[in-house]
Amino acid sequence: MAASGGSTTSNTNIPEYEYSDVNTKPFHIGGFRSEWLSRLTPDDYSYQPEEEDTFDANFAKEHGVSAETMAELKSVCSIDSLRCHPEDEQPDPEVVPPNPTLQTLIERKKKQDYKASRKITKNRHDLYANELERLTYGMKPEAVDDILPEGEVILTVNVYYPASYDKFNYVRPHMTLLMTGSHSLAEFRDAICCVSDLQVCGEFSNTPNIAPDFISKDHYKSAFFYFEGVFYNDMRYPECQDISMTTIEWAKSHNFPSYSQAKMEDTRFMDLNVKVGFPYLYCHQGDCEHLVIITDVRLTHKNDCLDKELYPLLTHKHRVATQKCSVCHIFIGRWFTTNDEFAPSHPCLFCDKCFRTLHYNEDGYKLGDFLAYPYVDRGAFN
Ligand SMILES: [Zn+2]
Ligand SMILES: [Zn+2]
Repeated sequence: MAASGGSTTSNTNIPEYEYSDVNTKPFHIGGFRSEWLSRLTPDDYSYQPEEEDTFDANFAKEHGVSAETMAELKSVCSIDSLRCHPEDEQPDPEVVPPNPTLQTLIERKKKQDYKASRKITKNRHDLYANELERLTYGMKPEAVDDILPEGEVILTVNVYYPASYDKFNYVRPHMTLLMTGSHSLAEFRDAICCVSDLQVCGEFSNTPNIAPDFISKDHYKSAFFYFEGVFYNDMRYPECQDISMTTIEWAKSHNFPSYSQAKMEDTRFMDLNVKVGFPYLYCHQGDCEHLVIITDVRLTHKNDCLDKELYPLLTHKHRVATQKCSVCHIFIGRWFTTNDEFAPSHPCLFCDKCFRTLHYNEDGYKLGDFLAYPYVDRGAFN
């Protein structure tokens, strides 16, 4: 994003840095889009590929070279002339020729040697994540109606681990999503995956089969985002409460600048005033607080994933190690028990299979004394 650099007529919708390389001053996303659209011609942001001849002519004009020079450049730089094997030989792209002098080949050789020296190979999660990003590159929808409109805005948003999770919380984003300007904040909320939404509260040693029906997400639906002095509350369901009220009233009674409220479901990204690079807040399940940072706002490009249906588009997800069952050490923990005479430790983590085998007879009757709490592992949703 370019800062408007010393312009005398200050237009608040052209992002300028507030702190160099950290964050911008606040600007309106819809206004920013209009600024771009008023300066570009529709050809500039059209998805239609430019004719080769037109592209060449424009390129030559922009660089001030003649048509002959352009033709020569094209033949010299053509990939057909890039070769490190005899012309009549079919090359193996995996084989780097001995003693390469070309820098790209030297780098490639280094990378190949490094890869060969590593004991661990990429696991299937990483392969899949990479593949996902590649697969969506330039992807067109099947139905014409599902194409992202030309000139739409795309935002890159990082969502961090909750503040209570001290391991990674401020260091790296838990997930990175691409959102469009037309998405509402409620759609953004639904795209955020946090384990505290899936937590099951309560003790279920007498009724382990009904535990999965008590997911926090279904019980505590209130949540808010905070951007630039406004709390955007989720009010989609009758049980939703305005949980920002406590903070607003507290701020009022302590002479802080006043805050306002709006509804998450009625607010699109396009309507927001934000600073790019600045940490904002997402709060749900009472006190599960995540930092949210918008790192980029831009117009769509023909190489973007153009299928509207695939947005919000997840482009990065950080993985965490899973906690294994303390009996079999194979499966992910699903239960933890306390006051448990069968357990090697207190509390003790079990997978579903070991938990049931140890604590219930074949008719499902509870054996012995213990308390059992469902456990949802963060890593189970990698
Ligand atoms: Zn959370
Ligand atoms: Zn187990």
